[in-house]
Amino acid sequence: MISIDGSQGEGGGQIVRSSLALALVTGQSVTINRVRAQRRKPGLMRQHLTAVQAAVQVSSAHVQGAELGSQQLVFRPGAVRAGQYAFRIGTAGSTTLVLQTILPALMSAEGDSTIQLEGGTHNPLAPAYDFLAAAYLPLLARLGPRVAVRLHQPGFFPAGLGRISATIEPSPQLGRLELLDRGALLGRKVRVLIARLPRHIAERECRTIAQATGWDESCFEIDQIADAPGPGNAVTVELQFEHVTEVFTGFGQRGVPAEVVAQRTLDRVQHYLAADVPVGEHLADQLLLPLGIGAHRGTGGGVFRTLPLSSHSLTHIRVLKRFLDVHVEVEEADGGAVVRVDSAGTSR
Ligand code: ATP
Repeated sequence: MISIDGSQGEGGGQIVRSSLALALVTGQSVTINRVRAQRRKPGLMRQHLTAVQAAVQVSSAHVQGAELGSQQLVFRPGAVRAGQYAFRIGTAGSTTLVLQTILPALMSAEGDSTIQLEGGTHNPLAPAYDFLAAAYLPLLARLGPRVAVRLHQPGFFPAGLGRISATIEPSPQLGRLELLDRGALLGRKVRVLIARLPRHIAERECRTIAQATGWDESCFEIDQIADAPGPGNAVTVELQFEHVTEVFTGFGQRGVPAEVVAQRTLDRVQHYLAADVPVGEHLADQLLLPLGIGAHRGTGGGVFRTLPLSSHSLTHIRVLKRFLDVHVEVEEADGGAVVRVDSAGTSR
């Protein structure tokens, strides 16, 4: 039984989800103590609880402490089974984070899986659907597994009720990833989602970005959702390079002018562009999981260049090392970092 301190480092939901993912792929049981101790409301929230229930279902696991607010969780996985699953969060909690909990296990299971998820699809502080589809999954495909996702209905905080589905074609092996440069810029897209709010909000967001960047009108798209369950506004900037696509999302907020929402999103884009690294902050912490699993199995792992590591990434590395036989080396250089993930047995 592996014991994980849920209060370490970032002390949030990622420790729970990654521990579950790693317990599933390695077959090891885990106890997580002090769940989300660094958060204002510690313990399992709906999104985390749904992730636990999803992990239980795909592996017929035994679990203790799977309740809202629970600060200790004991998880004993059984054998992972590919299949058709549906999970409903019941709040605007992030569907993409629930998917990421079971994805590592299902992408090396025997047979394809189809997952339906209901909840938030465009949440601040979580990967938005567009990030998953355009940035994360194409990199995962380079390692072997093919995951196709569809957005059926956007879901925003607080109404939720968004729907996505994913079809997972596993790969018997996880390959290596080397991502040290972006390569040439091939394209940019700005997509503004707007639901149950006046269209001029989206137009002002596009105008703010167009004026600041000089990007051509053809880069901009407004997607007005007529039948959304609740109001919402997300500004997504997608940068397509030869070797990587990065996605940045900003969210409309009551009391914050559309121009400010757009400018804040653009600030993050410009910070990434100025750093001249291929992997942005969030992609970095999320890539660690598939690279770690591949390295542990002796077929994968890899190296990438990124921004200085976030506390999410640093915490994630500590969690990975508790489950996996891996060596993770972080070399800080030129205002960024080069991260190498290798099998612990690899001679360096
Ligand atoms: P809590 O912080 O309440 O525990 P949580 O369960 O959402 O919430 P975190 O531990 O904060 O968990 O993890 C959030 C995850 O979402 C991290 O992997 C982070 O990289 C990712 N993320 C956050 N913001 C973005 C973003 N804008 N784009 C892509 N990914 C994001």
